[in-house]
Amino acid sequence: MLRTRSRLRAVALISGLAAVAAPPAAHARIPSLAFGAPTPGPVPVRVVDGDHQVAAWTVRAEAGVNTVSWDGRTGDGVAPAGHYRLEVGSEPRTTATSVGQRSVEVALADHVFPIRGPHDLGRSIENRFGGGRGHQGQDMFADCGTPVVAAQAGRVREADFQAAAGNFVVIATRGGPDHAYMHLLAPARVREGDRVVAGTLLGAVGATGRASGCHLHFELWTAPGWYAGGHPIDPLPLLRRWDPAG
Ligand SMILES: [Zn+2]
Repeated sequence: MLRTRSRLRAVALISGLAAVAAPPAAHARIPSLAFGAPTPGPVPVRVVDGDHQVAAWTVRAEAGVNTVSWDGRTGDGVAPAGHYRLEVGSEPRTTATSVGQRSVEVALADHVFPIRGPHDLGRSIENRFGGGRGHQGQDMFADCGTPVVAAQAGRVREADFQAAAGNFVVIATRGGPDHAYMHLLAPARVREGDRVVAGTLLGAVGATGRASGCHLHFELWTAPGWYAGGHPIDPLPLLRRWDPAG
């Protein structure tokens, strides 16, 4: 979800007209579909859950292979975790989509680990919640530049810079706790009010603010949320559960 708030991107690839799996890029969990178009023009796209349509829009396709992706957003929010089908073109089949795939099964995950790359959950007591100095989260280590993604779906409560937190993002999950991601390398890729799904790119591991070394400081706050009446709790049990390496 970029600052343009565009809900889709149609990207013309340079070569090849066969159906191809779209490159995972940083949005590893964001479902996408490659399709071919012999001529430029509008192509309808929709996402269905069984017979029920959850999202629909139109892309301006280029001649050649195009990639369309779905960021999980619906007309008025984000879709719940589950399996969906992303479709391009209309019935009867239009000439605009005469090459390649017309649909693909996509899954929105309930949760993903927030660091998309090699990482260390933190080994010292200093990295832990509490940590002898009122540490309000868990410090997890990874190379600066490693992508940081939303662990669960929700709405961006705050995306800003603070002297201690550096570049940070707070996401209010639906009916759940707030998640805070701190010391990001650069200003967050999302802004206040944005809806995210599990896997939406937020930024990258950094060391901005009061940080020694590249790491992600992650906080978990009970409802009603981060500095909004809730209180921080130890996120490590949850992070261990989410960690694919754990
Ligand atoms: Zn920390």
